[in-house]
Amino acid sequence: MNNLSKNYINGQWVNWTGDTIDVHESGTGEVIAKVPASGREEMEQAIAAADAAFATWSESTLEQRIKVLEQLHAGLKERAGEIAETVCREVGMPIKLATGIQAGLPATITKTYLNLLPDFPFSEQSGNSEVQYAPVGVVGCITPWNYPLHQVILKVVPAIAAGCTVVLKPSEIAPQSAYILAEILDGTDLPKGVFNLVCGEGHTVGDTLIKHPDVNMVSFTGSTRTGNLIAHAAADDFKRIALEMGGKSASVILPDADLAAAVKGTVNNCLLNSGQTCTALTRMLVPAEQHDEACELAAAAVAKMTPGNPLEESTRLGPLASAQQRDKVIDYIKLGIEEGHTLVAGGPEAPEGCDRGYFVKATVFGNVKPDSRLAQEEIFGPVLCVIPYSDEAEAIRIANGTQYGLSGAVWSADADKAKQVASKLRTGQVFVNGGAFNPMAPFGGFGHSGIGREFGKWGLEEFLEVRSLQL
Ligand code: NAD
Repeated sequence: MNNLSKNYINGQWVNWTGDTIDVHESGTGEVIAKVPASGREEMEQAIAAADAAFATWSESTLEQRIKVLEQLHAGLKERAGEIAETVCREVGMPIKLATGIQAGLPATITKTYLNLLPDFPFSEQSGNSEVQYAPVGVVGCITPWNYPLHQVILKVVPAIAAGCTVVLKPSEIAPQSAYILAEILDGTDLPKGVFNLVCGEGHTVGDTLIKHPDVNMVSFTGSTRTGNLIAHAAADDFKRIALEMGGKSASVILPDADLAAAVKGTVNNCLLNSGQTCTALTRMLVPAEQHDEACELAAAAVAKMTPGNPLEESTRLGPLASAQQRDKVIDYIKLGIEEGHTLVAGGPEAPEGCDRGYFVKATVFGNVKPDSRLAQEEIFGPVLCVIPYSDEAEAIRIANGTQYGLSGAVWSADADKAKQVASKLRTGQVFVNGGAFNPMAPFGGFGHSGIGREFGKWGLEEFLEVRSLQL
């Protein structure tokens, strides 16, 4: 990456000589890069470029769009090793997982759009009307740090495929993979101005992007707090919004489930990316009479998660992405102890041998009260709450008893029963008996977890307006 000191505006790498933002290596705390803390002026230039490019790109043929996405897909494959290492260093996901997920998923998602685009109905007939699906316009994309390139790709690829133009403001905590994307797109046939990248803080460049009258849509992934600000700002001039926000997802283990498999599946999911995953199953609901056994199984599963340098192949649990995030998670662990839940594993001290970097012990609390702050608030770290329940109706009530509704899981020996309970969860996706992740299935949240859906045709439709011609 040669362009980290620049922004990418109107097909050019534009020098930035003002203040910079330090990017830290999560495993050591060292500064590994500096990126622009750009000003509002750079953001305005990028929006103007995207606005100017829209007239042409919105009229581009499907073949042109597919060609660019094929070139992008090839570039993502070619630079996969670099992407995995970059995100591993920034975010702390162990390198093996980062290779499959942080680098692999962006290419997979791009491929899913390449597969669905040729048959996507950009117009259809309804009675005497031709219904057309037209690009929304200039899209502002704002993304977080936990799956930094994946979250960018989920917006940029369908937006470009829809005929929209884009201004991306990536997370300032993990911005480097967005630069790799910009470098790849710079080498494709994408016309200048269709994709722009401006790096900086949320309260400056992010704020300009969400309030600018020439931005027609904001597609955001991040915290519910920031999503709320964006929804308010967008209301002023009726911008379209798509919001992917926080979660506090429940794994409901029914009495007849294979307890060991269900606990293992839940713990692995909860600790993925050190718990820095919006869909993490952070509340494990177990029948009261199986509570102690479930806690023992969870403690044993957690003990296998060797913490360490995420660049080493043997590491199972990496650090968190920033000192701020580490401190926030430690405060929650202290809160859990103060609230009187049973500390089953882990605790607020750094794991042994991990004095540098942003490490937190994988922690399990038992007998957690469903209405406590620990069970209600998104922690975004390796902390699992085990919550006992008395019957199925109570389990469903507890699972649905937070402001969120992003993901969930149900485990039962009876597949129909599991599906029945899954259908009662007020959440955007439910994993039934460990069902596999599907990059073609819609992804998004109920309630405070989100508005809109990403992935597959649902992700593309977010970027399309509907027009009907009465003939
Ligand atoms: P965040 O809300 O702090 O930041 C996200 C982005 O918003 C960053 O680029 C940031 O600079 C920008 N931003 C901050 N303030 C802004 C403002 N006033 N105006 C415009 N932009 C602003 O979130 P984070 O800490 O980076 O990410 C963690 C959160 O993201 C968690 O809550 C997590 O659950 C959520 N998340 C959700 C999903 C999902 O798909 N639902 C996926 C991943 C992460």
